[in-house]
Amino acid sequence: MEKVVSLCKRRGFIFQGSEIYGGYAGFWDYGPLGVELKNNIKKQWWKDMVYKRDDIVGLDAAIIMNPKVWEASGHLKAFTDPLVECKICHKRFKAEDEEVLKAHGSEHDGKIAWTETKTFNLMTEVMLGVVEPKEKAYLRGEITQGVFVNFRNVVDSTRVKIPFGIAQIGKAFRNEITPGNFTFRSREFEQMELEYFVEPDEAGSKKTFDFWKEERMKWYVSLGINKEKLRFREHEPEKRAHYARLAEDIEYNAPFGWSEFEGIHHRGDYDLGKHKLTYKEEGGKEYTPWVIETSGGVDRATLFFLLDAYHEDEKRVVLKLSPKIAPFKVAVFPLLSNKDELVKKAKDIYKHLRDEVEIVAAWDDRGNIGKRYFAQDEIGTPWCVTVDFQTLEDDTVTIRDRDTAKQERIKVDKLDEYLQNRLR
Ligand code: ATP
Repeated sequence: MEKVVSLCKRRGFIFQGSEIYGGYAGFWDYGPLGVELKNNIKKQWWKDMVYKRDDIVGLDAAIIMNPKVWEASGHLKAFTDPLVECKICHKRFKAEDEEVLKAHGSEHDGKIAWTETKTFNLMTEVMLGVVEPKEKAYLRGEITQGVFVNFRNVVDSTRVKIPFGIAQIGKAFRNEITPGNFTFRSREFEQMELEYFVEPDEAGSKKTFDFWKEERMKWYVSLGINKEKLRFREHEPEKRAHYARLAEDIEYNAPFGWSEFEGIHHRGDYDLGKHKLTYKEEGGKEYTPWVIETSGGVDRATLFFLLDAYHEDEKRVVLKLSPKIAPFKVAVFPLLSNKDELVKKAKDIYKHLRDEVEIVAAWDDRGNIGKRYFAQDEIGTPWCVTVDFQTLEDDTVTIRDRDTAKQERIKVDKLDEYLQNRLR
């Protein structure tokens, strides 16, 4: 874990938020490579969930909504975690984190005393308006409610018919009691969610729940996550969120233990019912649809993709990221930076790939070629193209594979096809 955290800082994936002022607990900034990785994950999700399906449309709702939304959805009452406070140093913890509580006890030589467990609301308050007293509103604690309050707008403005889904990606905020494990538990984070609306039917909705559970697991595997490190975990009824009839998590075996990647929830008619929204079929039948939700964290996905991709051998550090999400798809080098013919030819190839083929490419002409390869391995660039003296004679380049470190020679005019086939 420490190695990935330090790589993230050193190579510009993730920085501590407000670092020059000592940081701010639970907030993180994504650097030049991190923003690419995170955007690629979001783009891939959108492509697979929205563009490749006829029954799902997208939405981008506001972060701040009328506080009545949160009143109706039950979040102001029930979006809570159990909290205990250490009576000696007044530090606060989540009551269910038994290991953490035990560890804290040893900081006070085992002479620990805890307060009674209280419920702590995770919603982040903001004060708005121009007259005093200002109005209390909330930064959304989950992006989901923005979808529900727009349910009728989407039905009325598009041709969707039940069963159909609404997909959304966006920021959510939770005043977490104990943010930690790097970006795993933050106070500001992004979610990528699908709300899939079905007819109210026990057997049918269970089938949809199982379908999405499997789809979402397959998605992570298709992007290269090691299958052995993924599992489903069912929530016991008493531990389910206030809205859930069924809940299962996809978990990843992180260095800090099996941890939630994404939640699949059967929300029944809870939310549309609370907002008093119904659906009318063409024939006139009217009902409150049930909802199956898949709710993944973009930041957790970014972290788990990084952790899973990190490999080390005696010689090098390699991020074996799927080419689909790697920040750069290809790097182009001239073998020597002081030979103008090599630099010119390499620059032409680089610009062609970048501007005409629209593949995100990196350029490097510093230091020796071995160092350049290692620098690209460490940030997960799947292929490196080198222009050498033979290129000037026969218009071929070497292309090196990140994972095997093997090189092959190919014709320059076959390069586009070579890369495009592998990026599909
Ligand atoms: P946890 O049990 O870890 O607090 P949760 O069950 O409250 O998570 P959900 O409300 O189901 O989480 O949120 C859906 C997804 O949003 C999670 O699977 C996770 O990927 C992401 N997520 C939730 N809380 C955070 C957070 N504090 N920081 C980063 N990602 C989060």
